[in-house]
Amino acid sequence: MSDRSMDWNPGIPGPSSPPIYCASVYSSHGDPKHDPYTYGRFGNPTWEALELALGDLEGASAVAFASGQAASLALILSLAESRSRFVLPGDGYFGARSLFAGLASRNLVMELADHKDLTAIGLELSRGPSVLWSESPTNPFLRVFDLKALARKAKEHGAPFIVDNTTATSVLQRPLDLGATATVVSLTKSLSGHSDVILGAVTSRDEDLLTRVRGWRSLGGGIPGPFEAWIAHRGISTVSLRVQRQSENAQEIAEFLLQHDRVSEVYYPGLSPERELASSQMSGGFGPLLSFTLDGTASQAEKMVREGGLFRPATSFGGVHSSWERRARWPGEDAPQNLIRLSVGIEPIADLLAALEAALSLEE
Ligand SMILES: *Cc1c(COP(=O)(O)O)cnc(C)c1O
Repeated sequence: MSDRSMDWNPGIPGPSSPPIYCASVYSSHGDPKHDPYTYGRFGNPTWEALELALGDLEGASAVAFASGQAASLALILSLAESRSRFVLPGDGYFGARSLFAGLASRNLVMELADHKDLTAIGLELSRGPSVLWSESPTNPFLRVFDLKALARKAKEHGAPFIVDNTTATSVLQRPLDLGATATVVSLTKSLSGHSDVILGAVTSRDEDLLTRVRGWRSLGGGIPGPFEAWIAHRGISTVSLRVQRQSENAQEIAEFLLQHDRVSEVYYPGLSPERELASSQMSGGFGPLLSFTLDGTASQAEKMVREGGLFRPATSFGGVHSSWERRARWPGEDAPQNLIRLSVGIEPIADLLAALEAALSLEE
C-alpha cells in the first residue's frame, strides 16, 4: 500500500508521522475560497490524512465522520435529494434500520427485502426511484450477498448501490470494484481496531456524490475530532495484518466450534454454505466475526460469556482483543436466546481454543 497520507508535509523536516491539528479556526483573511482551511467544521489536515489512507485502501476518495451512523446519515441525506425509497436487507445492521425508521416521518421509505432474492430486489427497485442499501456479510448470521449481482440489479433500475463494508473492511472486500456507488464504514470496528474510538466514513469514486456528502458534514456538523482521526489513522497502518490474523483465528475457531458437541450451529462466511460466494468476492480471509448457538439455555449462554477468560464480555467487534456477547440481551434483536456472537482478536490461536474449551466445559 502506498500511503499518500504520510506525505503530509513533503520535503520539510519534522515528525515522520502526521501531527494532530487541534484548530477551530485557522489564520485567514479575504476571500475564504483562497484558503485551504478557515473554520474547523469545514476542514482539518488530520482528517485529510485519515481520508487519504482510507481512500488508498479502496482506490477511491473518503469522507470521514464522527461515527458510522453520522456517515450513513450524511450519505442518506445526499442520496435522498433525488429519491426517497431505500431497499435494505431485513437482517442488516440494526442501527441502519433504526436510522431509516427514524427518517420515515421525513418522507423516506425503508423497504426490507432478502438481498439473496434478486427477483424480490428487482421488484422493489422497479416501484419508484430507489437506493439499494446492502451489507455483506451481515451479522449476527454472517449471511453473504452476491454484491456483483446486486450491483447489476441496481444499475438496471438506475439505483445507486450502497454497501456497508464494516464487517469485511476494504482489506478483505472492495465493493466499489464490484459495482457499488459508495461504501459506508464504521471505523470504530476493525479499521481502527483497538476499541478506543468511534468514527465512520463514506468512500466513493463519484465526486459529485462526495461533494454532497461533504456538504452535509459541514452543515450537519458530524465531524471527526482531530484526536479521533489521528488514532484511527494510526490504527489503519496495521489493519491488513490485524484483519488477516483475526480471519485466520476466526476460521480455526469456527471449525473447532462446528465439531464441538455443545454447539448446535456455527455461522461464519468461511464455512459452507456461504464459503463459495464469500470466496468469489472477498480475498485474504472472511473477517473477525462469527456466531454460534450453544446447545443450552439463555442463562447457560450468559454464564459462558461472563466467564469466558480471554473472551471479554462486550459488544461490538473488530478489536485486537477477543470478545463476545449473547446477542439476544439487546432489545429488538431477534437472534435466538442461546446465540453468542464472537469477535476474534489477534491472540495466539492455542490460547483462544483453550479458553473456548474451558468455557464450553463450564458446569451449569
Ligand atoms: C457499528 C456499525 C455501524 C455504526 O457505526 P458507529 O461507528 O457505531 O456509528 C454501521 N454498520 C455496521 C455494520 C456496524 O457494525
